[in-house]
Amino acid sequence: MGRKPGAERNFTRTVEAPAEMGYDVYAVPEGSTIELELRLEAIMEGILATGTFSAPAAGECVRCLDPIDEAVVVGFQELYLYDAPSSQEETDEEDHVLEDELLDLEPVLRDAVVLALPQNPLCAPDCPGLCPECGARLADDPGHTHGEAIDPRWASLSQLVEQPVPPADQSESDISSDDSKE
Ligand SMILES: [Zn+2]
Ligand SMILES: [Zn+2]
Repeated sequence: MGRKPGAERNFTRTVEAPAEMGYDVYAVPEGSTIELELRLEAIMEGILATGTFSAPAAGECVRCLDPIDEAVVVGFQELYLYDAPSSQEETDEEDHVLEDELLDLEPVLRDAVVLALPQNPLCAPDCPGLCPECGARLADDPGHTHGEAIDPRWASLSQLVEQPVPPADQSESDISSDDSKE
């Protein structure tokens, strides 16, 4: 692709996700496949890269800690300035420049993903989260409440704990020494 303003090129690529693409709690897993659609347009100052990409994102719900695994679609636009002064008019290095731009997309994709992913991911917009007392998932048990009194099942368990534990029977502990015959 030349530097003539107006030149345009569209392509799609699949790239491998780099590390640390997202947040600690929600990110595109390293090495997963990113489907990238890219349009490069030559303008006076450089090349304008416009595109969208879709990638899997994995994390956990900040309310109930359930795993979240869904695809995100992210749009981005970035202008790459021509860094070298164009003293040489038309060289064969344009292709090389294009290759470099593909590599340089990595920080752009990373920034775009950070903007697109929620910092507080939820498994569902109305996730009720966990019971603050026992940690049960409230989505599984919507009528979940804790009364003032101890649950009768727990009460009987505490009685069991208070009973003395009988000592273990030691009579069969020395089966191997069998020379106590009459
Ligand atoms: Zn949740
Ligand atoms: Zn509870």
